[in-house]
Amino acid sequence: MERVLNFSAGPSTLPVEVLEKASDDMVNYRGSGMSVMEMSHRSAEYEAIQEDAKASLRSLLSLDDDHDVLFLQGGASLQFTMIPMNLLSKDDSASYVISGSWAKKAHKEAALLRPVEILASSEDDGFSYFPKISVDEMAKDSKYLYVCANNTIYGTRLSPERMNALDTTVVADMSSNILSEVYDVNKLGLAFAGAQKNLGPSGVTVVILKKDLLVNEKGTLPTMLDYRTHIEKDSKFNTPPCYSIYICGLVLDWVKRMGGVEAMEARNKEKAKLLYDTIDNSGLYKNVIPEEDRSLTNVVFVTGSKELDAEFVKGAKEKGIVNIKGHRSVGGMRASIYNAMDIEGVEALVDYMKEFERNNG
Ligand SMILES: *Cc1c(COP(=O)(O)O)cnc(C)c1O
Repeated sequence: MERVLNFSAGPSTLPVEVLEKASDDMVNYRGSGMSVMEMSHRSAEYEAIQEDAKASLRSLLSLDDDHDVLFLQGGASLQFTMIPMNLLSKDDSASYVISGSWAKKAHKEAALLRPVEILASSEDDGFSYFPKISVDEMAKDSKYLYVCANNTIYGTRLSPERMNALDTTVVADMSSNILSEVYDVNKLGLAFAGAQKNLGPSGVTVVILKKDLLVNEKGTLPTMLDYRTHIEKDSKFNTPPCYSIYICGLVLDWVKRMGGVEAMEARNKEKAKLLYDTIDNSGLYKNVIPEEDRSLTNVVFVTGSKELDAEFVKGAKEKGIVNIKGHRSVGGMRASIYNAMDIEGVEALVDYMKEFERNNG
């Protein structure tokens, strides 16, 4: 079995152990005589799969009883609409921090529904840092502060220390850094994550929310867009994305076996340091993001020459290092090093970076 080193931003690499387990279970899940894909979502077997996945996530994040966990469809992008729809009454506002294009899209969708404000933005500087946030400057009628905790495209993040210090109701897009380092999710009003970065395959979005933030009377929102529907039916109002949830469950079990989020954080910091040190100590590669804002999960860098960047990506592929090209809006390179990417994979990339610099520096 020949596997590449896949640095894709999402959908992204999964632990091989998880794929092998899924492969073992594929045709006949634990003696049920069928695959998870073929099961009724009302069957006892499937209900146990979903319950276990939820319990694993709750325990990994040490969630308190005020927070519910939902498994929804529509991607992280549908949350851009569901959040203002469910958390804001007609005249309420909310404050958005525009730290990248996902936050910008979230603001755009919210602005279609409610009079939301932009509290801070780094757009004028190409999203090259995480904007400073002054909670004191939020509009008086603002009900929540919206942040994108990790900017997948630009390689910036709001560190746990700064996120935990925000003294207001925070809504956080954690699609590309949930479970990558220890954030106090209990301090958040709502956190959500499309699974395909750090949790599993695409098709399911995890939403963690405090029920008491919901402002609408039951029955006044479109049923599928009302969090209450999914809370009341335990994410089984309609057919859930069963197979995606099952794979997420296997990934969550793997994170537990690896030692939980703290162990992931230590490993991710080691991986990120290997890459940032290589970049900072090189005469060829550059990353201009301030140290405290640097992402642990998406490491971006450029050579300064489009031709050399293209050479780098091409040479990487020949060594089995794939999906290392930066997002089309920023160019250069991006190494997405989510939980499932191991240290050996990052070391192989670093070796290649050094070799490429010797040959082209
Ligand atoms: C990928 C990504 C999204 C969009 O996710 P979809 O599930 O494709 O809608 C939103 N926010 C962040 C931070 C992302 O990385």
